[in-house]
Amino acid sequence: MWIDSHCHLDSPEFDVDRDVVVAAAHADGVTTIVNLPGHVDHFDAVKRTRAQYGCVTGYGIHPMWVAGPSARSKRDDIAVLRDWVTRERPELIGEIGLDFFVPNFDQPEQEWFFSEQLKIARDFDLPVSLHVRRSQDHVLKHLRRVKVRGGFAHAFNGSAQQADEFIKLGFCLGFGGTATFPAALRIRALLRDVPLKNVVVETDAPDIPPSFLGPMSSRARNSPEYLPRIGAMLAEVRGLSVEAFAAATSANVRRVLFRELPDVR
Ligand SMILES: [Zn+2]
Repeated sequence: MWIDSHCHLDSPEFDVDRDVVVAAAHADGVTTIVNLPGHVDHFDAVKRTRAQYGCVTGYGIHPMWVAGPSARSKRDDIAVLRDWVTRERPELIGEIGLDFFVPNFDQPEQEWFFSEQLKIARDFDLPVSLHVRRSQDHVLKHLRRVKVRGGFAHAFNGSAQQADEFIKLGFCLGFGGTATFPAALRIRALLRDVPLKNVVVETDAPDIPPSFLGPMSSRARNSPEYLPRIGAMLAEVRGLSVEAFAAATSANVRRVLFRELPDVR
């Protein structure tokens, strides 16, 4: 049994066959999909994935929509988000964070949106799903300032030392398609070395296709139905049986989202 801890099932890429994709994922042992929007225009579609497919849902504004070439969020959207969270009671806030990789990024604007969304997570006592690209230390600085309950550092790509800092703040680190590539040495080393209780798996579908869909640069559509196959490859990197890895990573997601404690044996 698997949990996809980070997915964008509401994306238009799935408009043609969303029902089939979800049925295939469930049939292959993906019990839960955590679905997250990019900005407020996606909130309705995300809400539908909860009603139709039992997705665990978050609401949030992704840093790529805040600044840079694809900017389309305005500061008033923070009030819209707070409203949605009040009404819909999502399980988490996300996808939020900082992306200093995009050209012409507006760092102060991204930091303003990030900080305001952390405050919403804090006020509602919700975990967060973080997008962290070329911004590890800045994200950590904000997390120390606005204390949230923890969450997931999605597609984690920092150093071992930065991983420790996220873990100390109550975060699990998300691993997915990238770690299926043998050339991803640093990420595979992290996946091997960080405490198992802080490892979760994800697809980020339709993005971050795994190695069995083509080269790293391919634009192949990733999908939650591939999670068991991705997970099996990551289990091998970790040196665990597929069953043990699936059980541990699923328990980690449940602990973060629902404060569920592992079974005492
Ligand atoms: Zn994402």
